[in-house]
Amino acid sequence: MEEKLPEDLANLSELDEKSLLEVLTGRFTQNLIYTYIGDILVAINPFKYLSIYVKEVSVSLKSLPPHIFAVADRAYQSMLGHLATGPKNQCIVISGESGAGKTESTKLLLRHIMELCKANSQLEQQILQVNPLLEAFGNAQTVMNDNSSRFGKYIQLRFQNSSVKGAKINEYLLEKSRVVHQDEGEQNFHIFYFMLAGISTEDKEIYGLLDPTRYRFGKEDMVQAWRLKYAEVCNAMDMVGFEEQEKVDMMTILAGILSLGNIAFEMTDSDALKVSEASRGWLKATAGQFGVQEEDLLKSLTCTTSVTRGEAIQRLHNQQQAEDARDSIAKVAYGRVFGWIVSKVNELLAPKVDCDVELNEIGILDIFGFENFAVNRFEQLCINLANEQLQYFFNHLVSMENSFTHARFVPLFQDLFLTKPIGILSLLDEQSAFPQATDRDFVDKLNSKFKTAPNFEVVRNHTPLFTIVHYAGKVQYNASGFLEKNRDTIPANIRELFINSVTPLLSVLFAATISRTGTLMPRKAKVYLRFNFCLFFDTPHSLAVLMEKMFAASPHFVRCIKPNRSKQPDQLDSKLVMDQLRYNGLMETIRIRRDGFSWRPKFREFAERFVVTYMLVFNSVMSLSCGIRVCLILDCVSCCVDYRARICRRRYLALLAEIRRQRQAQRER
Ligand code: ATP
Ligand code: MG
Repeated sequence: MEEKLPEDLANLSELDEKSLLEVLTGRFTQNLIYTYIGDILVAINPFKYLSIYVKEVSVSLKSLPPHIFAVADRAYQSMLGHLATGPKNQCIVISGESGAGKTESTKLLLRHIMELCKANSQLEQQILQVNPLLEAFGNAQTVMNDNSSRFGKYIQLRFQNSSVKGAKINEYLLEKSRVVHQDEGEQNFHIFYFMLAGISTEDKEIYGLLDPTRYRFGKEDMVQAWRLKYAEVCNAMDMVGFEEQEKVDMMTILAGILSLGNIAFEMTDSDALKVSEASRGWLKATAGQFGVQEEDLLKSLTCTTSVTRGEAIQRLHNQQQAEDARDSIAKVAYGRVFGWIVSKVNELLAPKVDCDVELNEIGILDIFGFENFAVNRFEQLCINLANEQLQYFFNHLVSMENSFTHARFVPLFQDLFLTKPIGILSLLDEQSAFPQATDRDFVDKLNSKFKTAPNFEVVRNHTPLFTIVHYAGKVQYNASGFLEKNRDTIPANIRELFINSVTPLLSVLFAATISRTGTLMPRKAKVYLRFNFCLFFDTPHSLAVLMEKMFAASPHFVRCIKPNRSKQPDQLDSKLVMDQLRYNGLMETIRIRRDGFSWRPKFREFAERFVVTYMLVFNSVMSLSCGIRVCLILDCVSCCVDYRARICRRRYLALLAEIRRQRQAQRER
């Protein structure tokens, strides 16, 4: 008979790294991929089909053994107010490195929540179809994961009492550069392959597509499965509610991106730039697919127009500049199409209720995992920073319940990244604002400001490199292209080109900026400074706003673990798993939780202390301001819970002294 292994690691009185690994490995070999650490769910990717997600399982989960459905259940019940107190809005944060199983977990959560709330079948189907749609456009094969999310998403399900009324998606940082460049062993976004493999002969003609082998951006052996995937995406679009014309426009733009990628340039004998003879046909095809004039497209590829004192001045590109212009048009067009799909989904799934109806929310965050490749670029810095921030959120919440550990978690991003005016991000923004500044200048600035910072390492090299010691390990970044990517500007002539497109979708996309509510807004004067715009700062679409939202909700954590690097079932690499447990903060969490539990037998001691202190504080602080009062009470409670920690004893004494002082002051008054 198989040994019965514990389901909750926080319950174990003796637990070190070795025994933790033993329990997890033991469970994994019995196909028990889920384990609790208190209320955190640890999920080890099985890399194989397990029959634990069938309907019967989801129905029989009354006793809530460790399972992803149990997390969904708890979030749902908690939103309905059936569980312990706390905000009604819920957020489920799923984390883990690339390929650990976050996206699969997200889908399982969504599916189970839909089952729990017995959603009406049309809305349920719409919501469930959003995933295949977004995955086709936002996922790609990488060396880490064959279906890697190249964007982050926060899915919010909106409920009126127990029934789902709609959904909304926020997307973060799509890795647009993938459209024009893929490293060894990686692919472009799935949709290109799906489309090339699955499109019918008739549609091929409509979109102006040729044989798949002809395209630089999508070259790959065609796989039968992609044909089915294309049908699935088309079906998903229909189910979510996209109109036929919108679909045609979208696919034609994608075909245009493929054709554009094939345009090559060369210099003539007289040192002038021209489109290579072989590319003439591609130029024509691209212009047709984008619905623009061929001459206008050529102009935006081969020269830049700037206006100085009311006079338009044209500067001719060299070959490299022309290639850069071509690639930036492709990236911009793809990014806009993706943004538009999300905004359209939001429009179609917006709750149809009166505005005074109170809606509660369950949010699920599936953000790209921590990344450390052979070459790490701007995108990796963004991704790793987002993870750094999430880790901070996790640490903060875990440690809030156990305040004495709080000081141990030094939020790296705050120190190194966000400090104004000299954090890394401020320096990046500052340098991006100088047209003449180079990536080297940026790294030189970093080196001089941070050479002594504990989380920063100077790299001496002629390439602009620097290293950051993240919570999950050291990552060396290559800053080539940082300033350009951070600026993320669309040259005026390219914008102009697309606004004049006869394809309605393209002209709308470039004439407007998509707001986070999903509606199209008049464009702002300048979409500038990428970090300011979409990551950490207090703009509507930023991760900072998401964090605020998450802090105000009841949190649930799912920590996904990758058992091996070769994506094989039934194999667990102990070192790899241990590393993830450590940098995920799970070792620390276990220690905290276990301390909490191991203290239980001394309940009487706690109760006496708690009651005495609570009464004391409560009686004496009513006259203080609300903020101080809450702080004092919270502090006092945490002092009681962790009274053994020296720091808290000091706080406890300071608190008592403060109370005495207040009392004295009251008496004197
Ligand atoms: P990324 O950060 O790259 O997006 P991820 O954490 O989202 O990675 P997933 O795409 O969810 O990773 O999972 C990678 C692969 O692992 C899946 O395509 C699937 O093959 C397998 N997998 C993950 N979870 C499960 C599961 N519960 N059961 C079976 N297979 C799974
Ligand atoms: Mg994913």
